Amino acid sequence: TTVTTTIKNAVLTSKEITVKDFSEKIGKPVTEIVKKLMLLGVMATINSNIDYETAELVANDFGITIELKIDKTYEEKLLESAESHEEGETLVKRPPIVAVMGHVDHGKTSLLDAFRKTNVVAGEAGGITQSIGAYQIEFNGEKITFIDTPGHAAFTQMRARGAKATDIAILVVAADDGVMPQTVEAINHIKAANVPIIVAINKMDKPEANPERIKQQLAEHNVLPEEWGGDAICVPISAKTGMGLDELKQTILLVAEMQELKANPDKMATGVIIEAELDKNRGPVASMIVQNGTLHVGDSIMSGITYGKVRAMIGANGKPVKSAGPSTPVEILGFNEVPSSGDQVYAVEETLSKQVIQERIDNIKKERAKHSSGVTLDNFMNRVQEGTLKNLNVILKADTVGSVEALKNTLLTIRNEEAKVNIVHSGAGAVTEGDIILAQTTGSVIISFNQKTPSKVASVADNLKVQIKEYKIIYEVVDDITDAINGMLSVKYQEVYIGNAEIRVVFKLSTAGKVAGSYIKDGKATRNCIAVVKRGNEELGKTTVESLKIVKDEKAEVTKGYECGIKLRDNIDIKEGDTIDFYAKEVVKR
Ligand code: GDP
Repeated sequence: TTVTTTIKNAVLTSKEITVKDFSEKIGKPVTEIVKKLMLLGVMATINSNIDYETAELVANDFGITIELKIDKTYEEKLLESAESHEEGETLVKRPPIVAVMGHVDHGKTSLLDAFRKTNVVAGEAGGITQSIGAYQIEFNGEKITFIDTPGHAAFTQMRARGAKATDIAILVVAADDGVMPQTVEAINHIKAANVPIIVAINKMDKPEANPERIKQQLAEHNVLPEEWGGDAICVPISAKTGMGLDELKQTILLVAEMQELKANPDKMATGVIIEAELDKNRGPVASMIVQNGTLHVGDSIMSGITYGKVRAMIGANGKPVKSAGPSTPVEILGFNEVPSSGDQVYAVEETLSKQVIQERIDNIKKERAKHSSGVTLDNFMNRVQEGTLKNLNVILKADTVGSVEALKNTLLTIRNEEAKVNIVHSGAGAVTEGDIILAQTTGSVIISFNQKTPSKVASVADNLKVQIKEYKIIYEVVDDITDAINGMLSVKYQEVYIGNAEIRVVFKLSTAGKVAGSYIKDGKATRNCIAVVKRGNEELGKTTVESLKIVKDEKAEVTKGYECGIKLRDNIDIKEGDTIDFYAKEVVKR
């Protein structure tokens, strides 16, 4: 005798399943399933994918109930293991990771050089000959990690990609020059990144240095010095003479102390790529900072869609190291390709890394298939209606400081109860890559007045789907922005009849509710259109169309003469013979 176990209930783990896997799940032969599918009008083979709803119809026909419990994505599994906290794990204090920003020639490089020369970890003063993009110093027995790439774009890119690379930002302002366009740009980047700011008022050795004026200017840009009740600590320094450098280090450690930066050195490492390049002899070389855990030679690693095994690691002092703990910068060899700066790095089991990368590639493909996701003036109105936007974020660039001020003052007056202009950043000069990245991070439209955008920058904007609008006449800017802001208020809809269907059969699905097998008698039905269900002349209810299918293909619309499955958004007690009238929402033109 053979013992047959009958399956009464099965769990599917994805929205689609092959007939073969489905057959194993419900314990029915493939041939019988294929036969049932055929009766439903679905021509399937053993390797065909069927969707959950179709699977449910078939299962119910066998007297089996099924339910959907979607598996975690590999990305989720990766994050879970990277962010998990074991019970009783030992968290230790980790050094702060610091980025230096500011206007050109205000002394960023000099400051980084001065720190590097004074005291280098491992007592190798002056021993660093070649930069790996970051280095560590020691002060009062504590370490500080500096990112050695003062470019703003790199900084924001790290933020934009969700990698919390920097703990503290130092804003360098030359005391003899004051707050300049790139200082303002830096302030806006730091604010967007929500990182604590320490102001280093540099060049204090110069006779014309005027720190009080700098503080005044900073306050005008919403960076309020501590002594005036704000939270920006200002430290007067001279990168040239070394004055104030110890105070600056002390301040960094103090701010770090308040942030309570902790990590678990016993975990598998996570980190962030600072810079990476292809070396003729060594292959892909990446500088990274370990953020949590410890990275070891031999670890399997991945970043973005690149992967590999750590073949060798070089510390900031140029010497090979076997392992690197939290906040340590290292150069690593062993990636199969050059990873992107700002991307997160994970030490991870090879199998999981392969699965995550495959999933990421699939997602990138899907994403490419979709169109623009950035903010443009045209889709601003739609975004407001969806309730996702209340500010129109604008980055304003113009040829002169005068035009910037004039435009800014005008644009800020454009508002109504539901939306207003928010100037994320403004400055004189052509649009830069930094502006694009800031626009992407903050969902801004860039307005460029009376100047040309360099073609390289324009192509970056294109890639990141950021809109740059160029203007030559102020009132045109004002008109466009006013239209975008006001458009939404004046939008009114009317419902316009578009078609009608007759319900011929009702399918009941345990999880997905009811599907009306219908015939479109007039006009058309569209996904998301309004549906009024009637029995004779009596109105049973009003809802919208959640999905439309011809056999198993999801359709955006179905026209007269076709049979389709209609799923309504609300549960209305439909039955055979009922009719549905369809209406579309149309904007009433004033
Ligand atoms: P960066 O463009 O912000 O990296 O600025 P640099 O570090 O290259 O400095 C620009 C110029 O300012 C160089 O000529 C430096 O020698 C000078 N400089 C930097 N810091 C100081 C300082 O504290 N005092 C004086 N007098 N000059 C400085």
